[in-house]
Amino acid sequence: MTTVSPAMLRDITLECGACGHRQRYQVPTPACNECGNDWMEVRYDYERIRHLWPDWLRERPFTMWRYCELLPLSSAHYQVSMGEGGTALLRPQNLNMMLGTPNLFIKDERQNPTNSFKDRQASLVISMMKEANITELTVASTGNVAISYSAYSAHAGIKLWTFLPSLVPPDKMREIAIYGSEVIKVTANYDTTKKVAARFACHKGITPDRGIRNVGTREAMKTIAFEMAEQLAAELGPPSPDHPWRAPDWYIQAVSGGMGPIGVWKGYDELYRMGLVDRRPKLALIQAAGCAPMVNSFRKNLPEVEPVTDPRTQVITIATGNPGPAYSYLYRLVQQHGGAFEAVTDEETFRALHLLAKMEGLSMESAAAAAFAGLFKLLRTGVIKKDETVVVNCSGHTFPVEKFLLDKNWLKVLPGTLANTALTPVPPTARQSKSEGLLGALDQLDKRFKRIVIVEDNYDAARLLRRILQTRGDFQISEAHSGSEGLALIRATHPDLIMLDLTMPDMDGFSVLDELKAARELKNIPVIVITAKELNRHERDRLQGQTQMLLQKGDFMQEELVSGINALIGDEGKA
Ligand SMILES: *Cc1c(COP(=O)(O)O)cnc(C)c1O
Ligand SMILES: [Zn+2]
Repeated sequence: MTTVSPAMLRDITLECGACGHRQRYQVPTPACNECGNDWMEVRYDYERIRHLWPDWLRERPFTMWRYCELLPLSSAHYQVSMGEGGTALLRPQNLNMMLGTPNLFIKDERQNPTNSFKDRQASLVISMMKEANITELTVASTGNVAISYSAYSAHAGIKLWTFLPSLVPPDKMREIAIYGSEVIKVTANYDTTKKVAARFACHKGITPDRGIRNVGTREAMKTIAFEMAEQLAAELGPPSPDHPWRAPDWYIQAVSGGMGPIGVWKGYDELYRMGLVDRRPKLALIQAAGCAPMVNSFRKNLPEVEPVTDPRTQVITIATGNPGPAYSYLYRLVQQHGGAFEAVTDEETFRALHLLAKMEGLSMESAAAAAFAGLFKLLRTGVIKKDETVVVNCSGHTFPVEKFLLDKNWLKVLPGTLANTALTPVPPTARQSKSEGLLGALDQLDKRFKRIVIVEDNYDAARLLRRILQTRGDFQISEAHSGSEGLALIRATHPDLIMLDLTMPDMDGFSVLDELKAARELKNIPVIVITAKELNRHERDRLQGQTQMLLQKGDFMQEELVSGINALIGDEGKA
């Protein structure tokens, strides 16, 4: 697997969350070289950044990428950005009057591109994948991560396999499908779904998103803290002459996996280390009573989570029965720095949802409303004082795709009962063999038998071609970015089809064609030639009989290309 070289990210290191060992930064996040622990933290050169930021930030637009020095990406070149972050900090007048809370704010994360705060995570993680040259990814999700990742993957030319527990509403599943991701519904709960996704990734040799163990997920959520710190200082003034930015007394969020609060904590911790704020906020972590492993475990004073195996809540977005190490992390934080775990019933959540919509004009999905139900409870019990500064994360609101837009085959269903079958990685060449049980079921998901090689020196053009083919779902795609590299790849893989750019610096498409036609075992592979320029007569003559299809860049649509390919190599790649 490709990894990002440390030279590009020389100021960033990975620090082990258990033993403190430091090692070079890598994508995907590796485990600790010393103790094998898989919870790593990214560390930066805080001293240097502290001095540079005041000047630099003044010039930059208010998006999450304004804090790029504290994000693990080597260059803006890799940013996959659609305007995420930089969301409004609202001061809800009616609500504040009702509750008697003058300093209550709402961080409106619905304002992200796919309407949830998962877009921060998607933007950074997909950017990191792009930098690491990864073009295929699996993710398990209760809905919103899959929606966000799908949008950003479409943008970046990454093929995404999404695995969803059966309770995820069909509306959300359709929203995922419209972006061209594979949608696999696992008839099981979220925790089993995660296992099935991991097995599929392992079996197919595809990079899995490792959720909270992927440092990118937490690093992205830090930007909520950075933005809040600047926005609160603008609203309430700096807390002291020495500290320009501001922390609230409380950060409130509905939690399932815990990415948000852990990221926000780390963000404030970094600002605190840099002397930009005078404190770190207490975390109020809200869960649905029917699936509240963190709240239950905290009440029993357990440092490790006791999972909930049978979630009973309609608030599916936060129905994670086993948050694993995220709970232990949050447990320690709340023990050491104060904070609260609170559970709310679905009824309380829906009441809060109506209240926010009718009093403040804020319609949101139920997971976001759970945070407000928690706020009401913590104010009532006096855990949060009325005059304290509080920020509630209004985490999301989905706007689903209309039913009629998708054909019948957009959803695949996989029984979760198979998740415990043993599995080992299978080399790509053996992918076609028949197998039983889970292996067979996983193979059924992936029917890509036709191999296509793209030879194109322009990375943007290669990404577009790749994306068009990815959304068809049934091709194995490899890429070369020069003529000679392409020829080597074709010789090694004997693809079913070649897509060839004509103008390339080292060895142009004409020469590649000549070589292909001279080789007995390669000369019958169909070739689609792609050109950026009008061909003259001489060039047309040279292509005569050598190529099956000619595409002019900037003058073809996805459907033309796909139907052309099907005419050339048939549809039997599909079942
Ligand atoms: C993911 C999600 C949550 C919970 O987020 P975590 O910080 O990962 O626990 C809450 N609300 C919405 C809308 C979400 O999408
Ligand atoms: Zn370690």
